[in-house]
Amino acid sequence: MIRLVAGNWKMNGSLAANRVLLDRLEAAPGVEIAVCVPYPYLAQLQQRPAGLALGAQDVSEFAAGAYTGEVSASMLAEFGCRYVIVGHSERRALFGEGNLAVGRKAHAALAAGVVPIVCVGETLAERDAGQAMEVVGRQLAAVLEVLGAAAMSSVVLAYEPVWAIGSGRSADVGQIAEVHGGIRAWLAAHGVDAESVRTLYGGSVKPGNAHEIFMAANVDGGLIGGASLEAGDFMAICRAA
Ligand code: 13P
Repeated sequence: MIRLVAGNWKMNGSLAANRVLLDRLEAAPGVEIAVCVPYPYLAQLQQRPAGLALGAQDVSEFAAGAYTGEVSASMLAEFGCRYVIVGHSERRALFGEGNLAVGRKAHAALAAGVVPIVCVGETLAERDAGQAMEVVGRQLAAVLEVLGAAAMSSVVLAYEPVWAIGSGRSADVGQIAEVHGGIRAWLAAHGVDAESVRTLYGGSVKPGNAHEIFMAANVDGGLIGGASLEAGDFMAICRAA
């Protein structure tokens, strides 16, 4: 399947800085590239380099109504979002998103024709306790419970070990391949068409480590934080995919 490299800008950017960045992004052969931007910049991103897909970083689990501050999946679809990140560890840890809420957000996205990039991953304490795959399995199970096996095959997954995010310390290739293989096996064991689910790795991906990470078994691309804010680094990572 074609690899996907998605930039997660997080809460960064300005109209001026985005323009400078966008002017330096371009399509790369054989890889799908997306940028997941803060909501206010979806309008600015209506003009973007050809071949660059658009995404958001969160979505409401509700369709419409009295939910002050929320943004619906149909609004994202109106702005041409192909993707939306759901369940990023920062949202889980800082904003109290639970496993089932993540599933409901993924459901809302799919209902509006937007592909959820569902993030899963363990903390360092959980890894040290030997529970990495158990934690990831629990996170996947909640999403499966909400979506069902058929719809689950339409999501993109992102394995992002919490301890590797923004830390400069990527998981090593062995750890990545082990969890990605575990995810594929978990999906197949739960009746999901595992081969159709693209599974990205995220966490301190840089130009220097991107190629070996993307070559690891069952890695179908990357979710890139800090390095997606610098055009040269992001394009180098995209070309490594
Ligand atoms: P970094 O690439 O900055 O470690 O962030 C990863 C991430 O959280 C992408 O969603």
